Amino acid sequence: MTAPTIANVLLGTDPHQRIRLLQTSIAAFLMLVCAIGVNYLVWVGIAPFLSTLWWTIYTIGAFAAVFVFIRLGFNVAYVDPSLTVLQMVIALVSGVWAYAIAGPGRGAIFPTPIVILMFGMYALPPVMVRRMGWLAIAMFGAVMATMAVLKPEVYEPKVEVMHGFVLSAMLMVVSMLAGQLSRLRRRLRAQKAELAEALQRIQNLATHDELTGLYNRRHMLDLLKLEHQRCMRSGHPFCIVMLDIDNFKRINDTHGHPAGDAVLRAFADEVAGMIRASDTIARWGGEEFLLLMTETRGSLAKPGIERLRERIAAMRPQGVDSSLSITVSAGLTEHRAGEPVSETISRADQAVYLAKSQGRNRVVSL
Ligand code: GH3
Ligand code: MG
Ligand code: MG
Repeated sequence: MTAPTIANVLLGTDPHQRIRLLQTSIAAFLMLVCAIGVNYLVWVGIAPFLSTLWWTIYTIGAFAAVFVFIRLGFNVAYVDPSLTVLQMVIALVSGVWAYAIAGPGRGAIFPTPIVILMFGMYALPPVMVRRMGWLAIAMFGAVMATMAVLKPEVYEPKVEVMHGFVLSAMLMVVSMLAGQLSRLRRRLRAQKAELAEALQRIQNLATHDELTGLYNRRHMLDLLKLEHQRCMRSGHPFCIVMLDIDNFKRINDTHGHPAGDAVLRAFADEVAGMIRASDTIARWGGEEFLLLMTETRGSLAKPGIERLRERIAAMRPQGVDSSLSITVSAGLTEHRAGEPVSETISRADQAVYLAKSQGRNRVVSL
C-alpha cells in the first residue's frame, strides 16, 4: 500500500473531513503525551496505578471514539461538525482528573487547559471561546478546592490558592487572545467570500451585455478564437451568422428608445431560446448579433436560420405596441480551412450587406 492510500484509508478523501480528523489527531497526540507523562509518575511511584489506568483508558478511549465517529461521518449532521466543544470538554475532564491523581507531579498539568483553549479559536465563535475559558477556570478551581480538602498534605491549601489564582489569570488572558484570533479568522473568511462574490460579478459584467444578458462582443471574440483552434485540430468547420435587425432606427424614432430596448431584449430571448445548446449567440453591437454554430456545415445551417428569420417576423415583443413587429437580415458563412476568423466575420458582414440590398428580411449565405 502506498503512502497516499494509507492517508486515504485513515482520513478519507473529503477535504473538510480530513482537516477535522487531522485536528482530532493532533489533540489525541497531545493527550497521548499527557498519558505518557502521568504513567511515568506511576512508574516512579508518585501517582496511583489503578486511578491512572482508568484515566488512561478514558483519555485515549474518548479521543479514539471521537476519531472513529468523525471518520464514519456521523459528525456532519451537527451544527459544528468538527465537534470542537465536545473534544474540549473531554480534554478538560481529562486535565482535571490528571490534576487530581498526579499529586506532587501536578505542575506538568498546568499547560493542558491553555493548549485546549487554543483549539477553540479554529472552530468556535469568540463568545464560545470565552465561555470555554470560564468553564476551564471553574473545573480547575473545583478540583484544586476538592483536593485541598481531601488531601491537604499533598495539595496544600496555601499552594492551591496560588495555583488557582495564577492559572485563572492565565486562562482569562488566553481565552481573550484565542477569542480575538477567532474573530480575526471569521472576518477574514467573510472578506474572502465577499471577494469571491465580487470577482464573480466582475467576470459576469466583463463577459455579458447588460441590456440583453447575452455574451458581449469581447467574450464572443474569445469563444471564436477557441472554436477556431478546435476546428484546426478536428477539421470540423463552424458557421458564423451575423443577424442585423431591419430598420431598427425607425422603431426608436416612432416608439421611443425604451421600446427599442424592449425589442432588443425580446429578440435576444427569442433567438437564445431557439438555438442548439452547442451554439452561442452574442450581442455584437447596437442591433447586431453574432451566432456561432459549432461543428456545422453552411448548407446544413441555412434551413435553421431561415426558421429563425420566420420566427422573428412572427414575434410580437411584449411591453411595446402590440402591432409592432420586426424582421431580421442574416448573413451566414462557413469558416474556410486556413483563413483567420476575422476573414470569416467580414464575409458574414458582406452577406448581411447583400441581404439588406436585396430588400431585407432574408438570409444570404456566402
Ligand atoms: P438597417 O435595416 O439598414 O440595419 O437599418 P437600421 O435602422 O436597423 O440600422 P442603423 O445602423 O441605421 O441603425 C441602428 C440603430 O440602432 C441606431 C441606434 O440608435 C440603435 N441602437 C443601437 N443600440 C441601441 C440600444 O441599445 N437601444 C436602442 N433602443 N437602440 C439602439
Ligand atoms: Mg446595424
Ligand atoms: Mg439594422
